Amino acid sequence: MRISDTLVLQLVATTRKLSEDQVADLRAQEKATNRPMQDIVTMSGLVSEADLVKLYARHIKMPYIDLDLLSINLELLKKIPERIARRYSAVVFSINTDGSFNVACAEKLDDNIIRIIEKYTKKSIQVNLATQAGIERWLNQYRSLDSQIGPIVKIKKMPIIGKNSGSGEELINELLKQALNLSATDIHIEPYDNHAQIRFRIDGRLQGFHPLSSGQYGALSDFLMNDLANLSKDNRTKPKEGFFQYMHEDTEFQIDVSVLPVLDGQKIYLHMQARTSSIPSLESLGLWGPALTRTKSILSHNNGLILVAGPGKSGKTSTLHSFLRTMHSTHVSMIAIEDELSFSEPYISHVTVGKKNGMSWSTAFAASVKQDPDIILLQRLQDSQTAKYAIAASEDRQLICSGIVASSAPAAVSKLRSLSIQNHDIAHVLRCIIGQRLVRSLCQNCRIKVPADETTVKRVQAIIEQFPLYSFEDIHLIEKAAASSGIGGSDSLVTTNNKIQSIWEPNPEGCDSCNETGFTGLIGIFEVMQMSTTLKASIVKGTDTKDITARAIEEGMIPFAIDGLIKVFRGLTTLDEIERSQQSAY
Ligand SMILES: [Zn+2]
Repeated sequence: MRISDTLVLQLVATTRKLSEDQVADLRAQEKATNRPMQDIVTMSGLVSEADLVKLYARHIKMPYIDLDLLSINLELLKKIPERIARRYSAVVFSINTDGSFNVACAEKLDDNIIRIIEKYTKKSIQVNLATQAGIERWLNQYRSLDSQIGPIVKIKKMPIIGKNSGSGEELINELLKQALNLSATDIHIEPYDNHAQIRFRIDGRLQGFHPLSSGQYGALSDFLMNDLANLSKDNRTKPKEGFFQYMHEDTEFQIDVSVLPVLDGQKIYLHMQARTSSIPSLESLGLWGPALTRTKSILSHNNGLILVAGPGKSGKTSTLHSFLRTMHSTHVSMIAIEDELSFSEPYISHVTVGKKNGMSWSTAFAASVKQDPDIILLQRLQDSQTAKYAIAASEDRQLICSGIVASSAPAAVSKLRSLSIQNHDIAHVLRCIIGQRLVRSLCQNCRIKVPADETTVKRVQAIIEQFPLYSFEDIHLIEKAAASSGIGGSDSLVTTNNKIQSIWEPNPEGCDSCNETGFTGLIGIFEVMQMSTTLKASIVKGTDTKDITARAIEEGMIPFAIDGLIKVFRGLTTLDEIERSQQSAY
């Protein structure tokens, strides 16, 4: 909020008398520091920011609210999507008896903006003035609403970088800002004859951005390589790697830069990783019902091996950190071994491995065990040496939570065998394997329910028929259980005990909360294979993945394809997403 200099002095004068000398001094400071008078008076301690805003609110006849006195209600916060809340610095902080909302803003809002906000709240709003700092504190709480796999917007309309704009610095800033606003994870910049193609990876898919002219590409790549990532200027025929830190809003990102010589220049790849993002809870990852209960019970052990299995980029690291968050207490020491810092939490000691850090996974693991932590998070179990160390440690004093690349929970057993781990060792230390995939989540604001046609019925049947142990009635009962666990809110069931009646789909028009795409962010689909005496016995016997799967389902594991189907029924994702995620699952 900007208050004119004269008005600032008038407002201050209503609370205390300012001498001519004081006013002259303030004016001089304003000139010397080139900052507005409202900053000068608050910095000089004449009046606090809160008092100044309060005085200003009274002057323009608006109510004032001190947000610092209120506890934040996340449910109310959600009434305005983060994007809109940040754009207008506006947050919902309370509800009136007539159902209308009280909104705190850093500025007086004009009628147009009030109408835009009311479109989201779907209720009328009363605007109150608050301090910028108070609003920021509330806006930052949107982070705790999401997880790392949380809301990600998809785009149809690509923002444009002005054709003739600017310096390398301006271009890279603009590009990173746009990409991070869209929650992109990577940027690909590919040079061609007379332009450079830009693509962002959002929700795991590459999407085109407005191309750069050759001149812009040159300016951008020079600035990036010479000034940001400190890559040597000479030898444009060699691949190069580097990184730099970047602040976006309140979050620090590490941007990894990789440069590859190609025909028309150098292809640039940027990977953006937040250094401080909040760790998701087990529930917000998408775990529910028996899978959630089993996972929680497994996390109460103080030794053994817990694996999270899935292909690359299936959210395994977030799940592992969510485990540590669940187990965190002052009595527990934790070490995380990762190739890059994914979450920086004060209760975890981090060890980073890989070429960049000059340490192998097995060296890092052996060194970590020597420190005698209670829990070790191993981002990836991929070589025999580390696997052997992990088995030995989990047999003894440590609880090891590790990621493993495998197509399903049962398939992770074969993966351990391929790392030369003996069947009896696997059976001895393994407590549980969690298989997972990530799917796009339907925009809850605009999703639509349509009657199930013949094709839908067939597609649903095809998924169920992979698991002969399930009848349609079983699936209906699981949907019922999911609904009573609060999955998909209070919407009515889409199945009866013998057929599917309707199905949720993305709205082809989309809405403002999903950038007209019908989807917002990602959600996990899970299968939790808890080790039982019989499963251990099958592993010792050398049983193959297919039989282990059948045995695990008999013992109550809901395979992730079925968990996914239930999430389709509850309107959290779509049939397309589940079919795509299933490829090569079993
Ligand atoms: Zn939408």
